[in-house]
Amino acid sequence: MIDKRGIVLNFDDLHDGWSELLVEAGINLIGLHNMGKLPHERLHELIAFVHSAAGRKWLDYFAAHGIDVEYEIHAMSWLLPRDRFADHPEWFRMDDRGERTPDANCCPSNEEAIAIIQRNSIELARQLPPTTHRYFIWMDDNKPCCRCGLCAGLSSSDQTLLVMNRILEAIRTVDPQATLAYLAYTDTLKTLPQAVKPAEGIFLELTGPSINNMNDARLQKMNDNPEHRQRVDQFLALFGAENAHVLEYWLDVSMQAKWVKPVPELLFDRRQMEEEVAFYTSRGIRSITSFGVFLDEQYFRDHGNPPIAAYGAVLQGR
Ligand SMILES: [Zn+2]
Repeated sequence: MIDKRGIVLNFDDLHDGWSELLVEAGINLIGLHNMGKLPHERLHELIAFVHSAAGRKWLDYFAAHGIDVEYEIHAMSWLLPRDRFADHPEWFRMDDRGERTPDANCCPSNEEAIAIIQRNSIELARQLPPTTHRYFIWMDDNKPCCRCGLCAGLSSSDQTLLVMNRILEAIRTVDPQATLAYLAYTDTLKTLPQAVKPAEGIFLELTGPSINNMNDARLQKMNDNPEHRQRVDQFLALFGAENAHVLEYWLDVSMQAKWVKPVPELLFDRRQMEEEVAFYTSRGIRSITSFGVFLDEQYFRDHGNPPIAAYGAVLQGR
């Protein structure tokens, strides 16, 4: 039995078809996400939604049914607004050619940039407080980090952890119980952070093998991929398994559709999910969620209910 049994949806995937389905499937955790072409605009929209009448109605419904709410968001373009680049290029990352660019992430060695990121993280924590005190304030989605002289010795994993340590320090001023995820996927799962150590309160968020082996279908199953399992073990050894959280793709029709709507019917492989949950359980992990982005009202109309009951049953060990 997994303690925290979640699903991550874009806020605008929510519609009436979801309410009873979640409760009946034993889902007790919702992660709201801001997937879209412009993550900072989608984050503004997510904040507006949560504070709207419709958003408050959903939060009340989740609370009444024992469903926790978290926000799993790519936030760096919101935390460090790109329009500051003209005045302060040094806040932004240096690319491989030695030029500053506002295309992604930040320069984590620049204290002024960190101060802006911290200030805006506090604002974000006030606007989107999770019911679990677990925060997911991610770097830009699968984008490069800084190559300036001060950052050159820091891998993407080190730079991510450095920024997360500083964000956690900031949000604890408004939520003393706050913990914050280090998201391990693609580059930040390839290499362990080495120069930077996780601060107390940083927990590991592990992603499944499918996203990390997008170009090789053979490696997208845990059981066929000893290298992935080995890396998972290395990360668990560094961050600890006790508070580790898994973010999987078993219900992610958006990925299956290469992030283009309209989406086909979700391919859900219950056997594979069972094997992977067994692996995570064997490592002491008790908190698991899956993306279900694009399982929106249109999906329910086109394809009927997605297999949430089966998904919930596997997480409950049934
Ligand atoms: Zn730098």
